[in-house]
Amino acid sequence: MERLLEVFNKDTRYIKGIGPHKASLLKKRLGICTLRDILDYFPSQYRDLSSCKRILEIREDEEVCLRAKIITYRKRFFRKGVYIFEALLQDDTGALRCVWFSKSYFERSIHLNKEAIFFGKVKRRRGVLQIENPEFEFIEDISVDSNILPVYSLKQTLSQKFFRKVMWGLLNTSLSNISDFIPFPVREKANIKNIVFSYRNIHFPQSWEALKEAKSRFIFEDFFILQVLVFLRKAQWRRHKITPIESNFEELVGYAEGYFGFRLTSSQKKVLCQILEDFSKGYPSKRLLQGDVGSGKTVVAACASLVVARKGWQVAFMVPTEILAWQHYNRLKNFFEGKNVRVELFSSSTLQKNKNVLYKDLEEGKITVAIGTHALLQEKLKFKKLGLIIIDEQHRFGVEQRVSLIKKARCPHLLIMTATPIPRTLSMVCYADMDISKIEELPAGRKIPQTLIFKERERDKVYRLIREKLREGRQIYFVFPLIGEYAQLNIKGAQLSFYQIKDAFPEYNVELLHGDMNFKEQRKIMSLFSEGKIHILVCTQIIEVGVDVPNASCMVIEEPQRFGLSQLHQLRGRIMRSCYKPLCILITPEELPPQTKRRLEIFSSTTDGFKIAEEDLRLRGPGEFMGLHQHGQFQLRIADPLRDWELLKKARILAYRLVREDPLFKNRSNKLLRQIIESKIPQCMWFQVD
Ligand code: ADP
Ligand code: MG
Repeated sequence: MERLLEVFNKDTRYIKGIGPHKASLLKKRLGICTLRDILDYFPSQYRDLSSCKRILEIREDEEVCLRAKIITYRKRFFRKGVYIFEALLQDDTGALRCVWFSKSYFERSIHLNKEAIFFGKVKRRRGVLQIENPEFEFIEDISVDSNILPVYSLKQTLSQKFFRKVMWGLLNTSLSNISDFIPFPVREKANIKNIVFSYRNIHFPQSWEALKEAKSRFIFEDFFILQVLVFLRKAQWRRHKITPIESNFEELVGYAEGYFGFRLTSSQKKVLCQILEDFSKGYPSKRLLQGDVGSGKTVVAACASLVVARKGWQVAFMVPTEILAWQHYNRLKNFFEGKNVRVELFSSSTLQKNKNVLYKDLEEGKITVAIGTHALLQEKLKFKKLGLIIIDEQHRFGVEQRVSLIKKARCPHLLIMTATPIPRTLSMVCYADMDISKIEELPAGRKIPQTLIFKERERDKVYRLIREKLREGRQIYFVFPLIGEYAQLNIKGAQLSFYQIKDAFPEYNVELLHGDMNFKEQRKIMSLFSEGKIHILVCTQIIEVGVDVPNASCMVIEEPQRFGLSQLHQLRGRIMRSCYKPLCILITPEELPPQTKRRLEIFSSTTDGFKIAEEDLRLRGPGEFMGLHQHGQFQLRIADPLRDWELLKKARILAYRLVREDPLFKNRSNKLLRQIIESKIPQCMWFQVD
């Protein structure tokens, strides 16, 4: 049984047909180190050899697969290092011209009078048909036993022939009689094929149907392993016993409403209720709080913090920027101190001054609530009794950062907050071990912003609109994607444009804000802006998250094509905080690629965060969208949670059952799975129970 891991982990050097030189190439070019890495290097495409044509049959503008011989060729100089190779192909129905533009070493891959298969597009030139730049492979190199030819995406110096041969060898020797690590009952219920069949058919499909089945197996496998991990982790987390924290909901809400001067929305109350219930349960919670920009997550987080802090537990509240930390601190200082809870700001600027005192007080438990940036992650910073971790705008942080904060506590409650609505299928993958709460409404009276798109040449028009807003007493943001110019790409930056904007509005106070300024300056500018003493703030995305100045109801976004949809949505969120009608203006270059245009049109036509997130997901794909590639352990080889959600659901249910029925994987049939999981995550803690 244990043979599987031994086989999987075998170093490529010791695989027949590879050897040290090829092994190091595989590692360098493709990141392949073990036998399993090779097996998991799936073909990037498959060619259908059954559709092979004869020369007589081909038609203009057709993508063809053609079986023929090269009977002669010549080489002509084209330009430095590149030649035109003209060849004559022949089969028993006729002859055909074929051209490649290629480097001189291409010549080495041409062999005369050997049968090969050519894949390429047929063109008509000067009345005659020819194939241009076809890919080709000699029949003797193909060595497959069906009509489906796998094609791998390999970097130069590694050939298809070599790779296929190695793969073929592995499948027929090492892999021929291994056991499957997905237990049989699971495979049966999920209706997926076993491991041997699947590796065989993903690499050398016997039929298109078999290929499909093989793919399903690996998609399922990816999801299944992931979900098993998730449920194990959840079970593990819940096994910790901690003191339940009781609270008085009515009193808390009353206090918060009195302090902030508004009524909480019913969504805010519902979510707060869920969080307080978590605290009362006696084991640590993990909750993801979703709420669109401006839905009022901070208030909820503050209330939750207060409950924990008043019972003597410390709270770490981590946010992505200094400005946001500082703003939260200012807003919440008296909220906590009104209840005798000491709160301090931990950011690189405050730490410069009285670092040692702050560290000491935190470690001795004299500070109860620590609001801060990444500075909270510093190794020297220690808590006495950390009971709650809140991470705001969590998409700005990496997984490791989250983990390093959690390590500062024994078994903390964890609350992470995000403004990006996450479609359910995706949250099953990325946040599957968390409970999810949603704030589904915005505070009453919020005005929906108007979003207008202008071209660069209409700048005067934009300035007229801005001037109108300024006259009404509103403040304006001008947001740029970059600080400095990017002359080569013709992208404007905040720094230079600042002077132009200043010149255009001489009667108003215009200031610049960006991340390269020292924080003292940033803070000064932000204070002046929130006091209304600065009328126009020229800035970068530094204001993307959290910054909250209600009177600033108008925003001009320059070079908007440089921002992602969700980013634009966050930016626009800055001006949705007031009773004034918000106006968002995009100034675009004259020409935009169609996809970019579409993105901006979607943005201007809706303010529905969910719709925007879905669209963003569709345009960028799940990996980019969620930062999925960061989740090292969550590697999905060919699974796509959006496309394959049915398999995902199946995997989730079966994983759940398995973990519930055999949490320690003691059943014989689950042993191999346990080993595979432990080998994927060496520091697998989920098994260290009791
Ligand atoms: P986000 O969810 O984007 O973090 P914030 O917590 O920063 O939103 O809140 C946005 C603004 O809305 C803040 O100015 C906050 O004071 C205000 N706010 C929050 N909740 C309410 C409410 N229930 N009624 C009115 N205003 C609210
Ligand atoms: Mg916020």
